[in-house]
Amino acid sequence: MVELARVFNKDAVAELPGGHAQFSITVSRDYAGELCEITAARSLRCAPCDGGGCDACARKGAFRLADEAELRVFSVQLPQSLEQSVRIRIPAPFGPTSEVALLFLHVELTDTASASVKVVQISAPAPNPTATSVPKSPQHWLLLIGLAALAAVLLWRLL
Ligand SMILES: [Zn+2]
Repeated sequence: MVELARVFNKDAVAELPGGHAQFSITVSRDYAGELCEITAARSLRCAPCDGGGCDACARKGAFRLADEAELRVFSVQLPQSLEQSVRIRIPAPFGPTSEVALLFLHVELTDTASASVKVVQISAPAPNPTATSVPKSPQHWLLLIGLAALAAVLLWRLL
């Protein structure tokens, strides 16, 4: 548990053993504060050497991820205040078995979001078809009884 606490300590994050990769996305202002699902590219550039090749990436300059897109998805809550660009550190974005132990996510603010970014709908759930068939509230029945009584009175007066 001590190790886990260290992961979320800003200074300790840079010392995480394993590969440190980087990935860039663009989002529009609508994405601020939203929980997003991001599909990373197949190959992520090594952060310490910026693609030049170092010991951490075995001189390859990049980390290769799974071919299957669904295995390259990670989720992140974007900051409420999205200014020009932010850099988010995400420990173990693809699980503990991935060689990418830390991901530096560059988020750039533009008019359109990258195709790799998808907002996870949490605030607006899909319409529930059974929601329309809820039992009528007592007020409805009282109104119906009242209308029936009014109709009865009108009928009685006509007769
Ligand atoms: Zn490297």
